[in-house]
Amino acid sequence: TRSCWFSMSPEPSTHQPKPPKVQNLIGGSFVDSKASSYIDVINPATQEVVSQVPLTTNEEFKAAVSAAKQAFPSWRNTPITTRQRVMLKFQELIRKNMDKLAMNITTEQGKTLKDAHGDIFRGLEVVEHACGMATLQMGEYVPNVSNGVDTYSVREPLGVCAGICPFNFPAMIPLWMFPVAVTCGNTYVQKPSEKDPGASVILAELAMEAGLPDGVLNIVHGTNDTVNAICDDDDIRAVSFVGSNTAGMHIYARAAAKGKRIQSNMGAKNHGVVMPDASVDATLNALLAAGFGAAGQRCMALSTVVFVGNSKSWEDKLVERAKALKVTCGTEPDADLGPVISKQAKERICRLIQSGVDDGAKLLLDGRNIVVPGYEKGNFIGPTILSGVTPDMECYKEEIFGPVLVCMEANSFDEAIEILNRNKYGNGAAIFTSSGAAARKFQMEIEAGQIGINVPIPVPLPFFSFTGNKASFAGDLNFYGKAGVDFFTQIKTVTQQWKDIPTSVSLAMPTSQ
Ligand code: NAD
Repeated sequence: TRSCWFSMSPEPSTHQPKPPKVQNLIGGSFVDSKASSYIDVINPATQEVVSQVPLTTNEEFKAAVSAAKQAFPSWRNTPITTRQRVMLKFQELIRKNMDKLAMNITTEQGKTLKDAHGDIFRGLEVVEHACGMATLQMGEYVPNVSNGVDTYSVREPLGVCAGICPFNFPAMIPLWMFPVAVTCGNTYVQKPSEKDPGASVILAELAMEAGLPDGVLNIVHGTNDTVNAICDDDDIRAVSFVGSNTAGMHIYARAAAKGKRIQSNMGAKNHGVVMPDASVDATLNALLAAGFGAAGQRCMALSTVVFVGNSKSWEDKLVERAKALKVTCGTEPDADLGPVISKQAKERICRLIQSGVDDGAKLLLDGRNIVVPGYEKGNFIGPTILSGVTPDMECYKEEIFGPVLVCMEANSFDEAIEILNRNKYGNGAAIFTSSGAAARKFQMEIEAGQIGINVPIPVPLPFFSFTGNKASFAGDLNFYGKAGVDFFTQIKTVTQQWKDIPTSVSLAMPTSQ
C-alpha cells in the first residue's frame, strides 16, 4: 500500500512530536525501513530535527533493485508516447506542488524560498525536455548499404540504472537523473542525499501520481554502504553521481570495476575574470549573486574573482554591496542567503577562511561571527571576502562551498587565463568584459567546460548538457540533453536483407555489392 512519508501516527500531546521517519519507495510502495540506525535530517537555520532517514538494510536495497528489474521488461515495451505522457503529467504536478517542494527544500537544505523555487524550476525544465524523448531517442537508417541490404540503429534502454545525489540541489539534481532515464525506458533506483531527502520523496510521489508504474522508480536512503551496494550490484547497469571528488572518484572506480557506465559530476572552483572594460554595476551584481547565492553552496558558484589590471579598485564597492546582503532563515521574505548545511560545514568553511588569513590574504569582510536574530542556533556565515589570494594558498586550492569570495589579481589578461587553466577543476568560468575580442579569446583558451560571457552561472538548459570537465567530471557522457539520452541508452544496429533472388554460398567476409 502507498502511504505518505510524513503522515505519522500522532504522539501524545504531552510529548514533543517524534520526527517522522523517511520512507523508502520499493516496488511502488512507500515503506518504513527496518534499519537499526537512522540519521537526523536537521533544519540548518534552527537545528530542529525535521525527520529521520534510515540507513537502508541490504535486504531492502536488494528488494528495490529486484523491483526495478522486474518492472523493466514491461516498461521498456510501453510505447514511448505513453512514457512521454507520464512526464507531461509529471511536469504539471511539479508546477502544482512548487510551494510544498520549495518549503521542504528550505526547511531541510536552508536556501531561501525563492532560490528553492529556482532549484525546482531548473529540474522541471529537464522533465519538460524529456516530454520530447521520441525525437531525442531516434535511431539512424541507411538504405541499401549493399544491394537489397539496409542498416539501421536503434537506441535501447539499458535496464536498471541508479543515481546518487548531493545535498545542494535537492530537486534539480534528482530531476537531472531519473526523468531522462525512465523516459528512455529504463527503471531506476535513486539514493537521495541523507542531508535533505524530502524533495526526492515528494518528487517520487508526484511521479507515481503521474502514472509511473510500480517499480519503475525506487528510492533507497542511506550513506556509504548503500552507495557501495549500488556500485557492486550486478543488475545495475549505469550510475549517475553528483557530489564531491572524494565520493565521486571512489564511485567511478568501484562501479567501473563492475563494468558499469558512470557519469560523475564533482567539485569545482569557478573563476570570474573581471576586465577593466566591464560594466561596473552589472559585474559587481553578478559577482554577488554568483558568489553568495545559496550561501555559495552551488557547484557553479563563482567562488574566485580574478581582477585584471585596475578593475581591482572595484573591490571596495564589492565589499560595500556584500555587507548589504541579508543573511537569515530562508523562509524570511527578505532573506538573500540562508545558512550552510551543517555545523561541520560551517566549521570547515571558517577554518578555510582562517587559513587564508594565516597565509597572508586580507580579510576584507568577515562573516564568521554573524548572529541572526531569532535564529541564533543556525549555521550562518555572512558574506566573506578574502583579497590578495594567491594560487598556493589552501583557501584557493580547496573548494570552500560557502559564502566566501576569494579575490586574486592579474596584471594582464594572459596571466588571468593562465591562473584559471592551472586550476585542476574545470566546471565553469566567466568573463566580464565589453570586448568581443577578449570574450572570444576567453572562450577559445579557457579549459573549463562551461563558459559564461557576462553571465555568472552559465548552467546550460536541458537541450544542451551540463558539461563540466577536468577534475569536475569523470565519464564521457554528460548529464541531460543529447549526451544524457546517450548515457541512458545503448545502440543496437540491425542489418536486414529482403531479397527475392536466391543467394549462393560464399564464406568470404561479406562486402558491399
Ligand atoms: P558528497 O560527496 O558528500 O555526497 C554526495 C553523495 O555521495 C551523497 O548521497 C552521499 O551519501 C554519498 N557519499 C558521500 N561520501 C561518500 C563515500 N565516501 N562513499 C560513498 N558515498 C558517499 O557531496 P555533497 O556534500 O552532498 O555535495 C557537495 C559537493 O557536490 C560539492 O563538491 C559540489 O561541488 C558538488 N556538486 C557538483 C555538481 C556538478 O554538477 N559538478 C553539482 C552539485 C554539487
